[in-house]
Amino acid sequence: MRVQLPPCSQRGHGGSLFEDPYVFNAAHYPILDLIETHGYIFSTMSINKSVPALVEAAEKAREQSNPRFSHFRVGAAIEVESGEIYSAFNIESSSYGLSMCAERIALWKAVTAGESKFREIAIVSDAFDFCPPCGACRQVLYELAGDIDVCMRNRNGIVKKKKLSSLLPEAFTVKTLHDVQEDPFGRRD
Ligand SMILES: [Zn+2]
Repeated sequence: MRVQLPPCSQRGHGGSLFEDPYVFNAAHYPILDLIETHGYIFSTMSINKSVPALVEAAEKAREQSNPRFSHFRVGAAIEVESGEIYSAFNIESSSYGLSMCAERIALWKAVTAGESKFREIAIVSDAFDFCPPCGACRQVLYELAGDIDVCMRNRNGIVKKKKLSSLLPEAFTVKTLHDVQEDPFGRRD
């Protein structure tokens, strides 16, 4: 079943769209496979699924977050091939630029645990809307985890999934780095 929802611009923060019991039922944490096109969101209406463990882990991490400056809590959880989940929250420094996103901390936890094959990352935040990974996280995730699924859950419990490659098209990767005819400094591989 596909349901046409109002344009994004008319939705607002937690507006009437998600109060429609057919679309949103807080008791069941609806998991919708959303397709966004031309300002509309379409849903395959796969509601009433239980909350995936990955999203739940991200949510638990978000609850533990205590960003001292932005007060914007983010939780992320990344699932590896074995099914193991690594979660983290954002950490801020008084030297703002040294603050770190939840997504990259979760990834680095997995990498330092010896993981190298990844399936999916879930991201939740305090925002009413979906919280996509920032540009830096997209780059690092793509390089270390590959074209994984990115699962974003908004404050109304609605989940949207996208491939990382759709969030970072034409990514710069190590492949690009090695695609050199001649080293400008005269070095060869
Ligand atoms: Zn980030």
